[in-house]
Amino acid sequence: MTDPISRRTLFEMTVAGASAAAMASSATAQSAQRPAASSQSWTTYPEGEKVGYAIVGLGKLALEEIIPAFKHARGSKLAAVVSGDPAKARRVAAENGLPASAVYSYADYERMANDPRIQVVYIVLPNSMHAEYTIRALKAGKHVLCEKPMATTIADGEAMIAAAKQANRKLMIAYRCHYEPLNLEVMRRVRAGSIGKPRMVVTNMGRQADPNTPWDSWRLDMGMSGGGALADMGVYGINAARYLLNEEPTEVTAWSYTDRSDPRFKTTEDLIAWQFRFPSGAIANGSTSFAYSATVSFQVIGETGRLVADPGAFYGGNRLTVEGQPGERNPQIVEIDQFAREMDWMSDVVRGKAPMVAPGEEGLQDLRLMKAIMDSAARGGAPIRTDWGYRRPVDPAAVVDVPRRA
Ligand code: NAD
Repeated sequence: MTDPISRRTLFEMTVAGASAAAMASSATAQSAQRPAASSQSWTTYPEGEKVGYAIVGLGKLALEEIIPAFKHARGSKLAAVVSGDPAKARRVAAENGLPASAVYSYADYERMANDPRIQVVYIVLPNSMHAEYTIRALKAGKHVLCEKPMATTIADGEAMIAAAKQANRKLMIAYRCHYEPLNLEVMRRVRAGSIGKPRMVVTNMGRQADPNTPWDSWRLDMGMSGGGALADMGVYGINAARYLLNEEPTEVTAWSYTDRSDPRFKTTEDLIAWQFRFPSGAIANGSTSFAYSATVSFQVIGETGRLVADPGAFYGGNRLTVEGQPGERNPQIVEIDQFAREMDWMSDVVRGKAPMVAPGEEGLQDLRLMKAIMDSAARGGAPIRTDWGYRRPVDPAAVVDVPRRA
């Protein structure tokens, strides 16, 4: 069971965990870090009032994380499954108590327009298929939650945003770290000035890709993934640098190294490292690879302290280390089911009870930055201007609250 945390308790917990001196000097930041009163997403809804989801694509993430997460969801329920494998779809539906009418194929996808059980379509397909199935769902009158990265091209991302506007439906990109307690804790400490002015962000996100698995074979294909490790893991680091600093980079420079004799890297790059320059003067160093040891870490170095999250973006078991500050070195952070939380947040967006934290434009910003990184790397580190005027509409740290215990 998770308990909702009151605004006051969250405020006290954050104050207790941060430097008293730094906190005292940042009264304005303290009030800004308190989640908005509009946040309703720990409400448990009766079954009949839960928002119904169709899960599109029954692969590793859908089967191992998303469908099991409905057991922990408070305002969201599984309503349908969409798959190209009828036997698998029937099995998954039966295991989850869904009737045969809740099983869809890609061919009869549009039938969901007349299915009131489905309010949100959650796209969990290979990246290159996100745009088509998002747009088809929007045209069928459904809201869409789409996995990251939102698409493989900027044009597709723009078309998805336009389709949502035209259909007057919500499009949210599934950045689960926006709802993850450790990431939120780091954001709040940075906003509160607990480590002084943030100077450097470092993000390293990658692993060894296994081309013999169905989920990695498409990730190693440029057409299907839109960028190999950068599109799969690097995007977490790009997004993290932006939400940790709560500002947008104005310039990027990047390098890559790829061993073309490695059969995994016929069309995608292996190791990519980049640097973002931010208006505040902060710099972010990022790296990603599909040929280095599994790493999902980030750190923020400020004038007076350092916040290290290693691991910082796993589904569970993330760990925060606070350096250069009084107080706990490894503060206990609650663990939650991030997928349940993210779907419940989407459900509250649909209900009009929570603000949209990651609209299509948020995913598009990462697509643009991924392209700038690839372009710079292709030109041997040439600097590329990235100030396109995008500003995050809602700071997750200002609105997403966390439970006291999971
Ligand atoms: P996967 O390969 O395991 O699943 C993809 C599904 O799409 C499979 O069921 C596959 O059968 C189906 N599919 C339909 N047409 C296909 C085609 N032409 N080629 C290949 N597969 C096809 O991949 P996954 O790991 O479940 O990833 C799915 C999406 O979820 C990706 O966009 C990925 O980036 C995202 N993802 C997000 C997280 C997260 O933490 N938010 C984690 C893992 C994956």
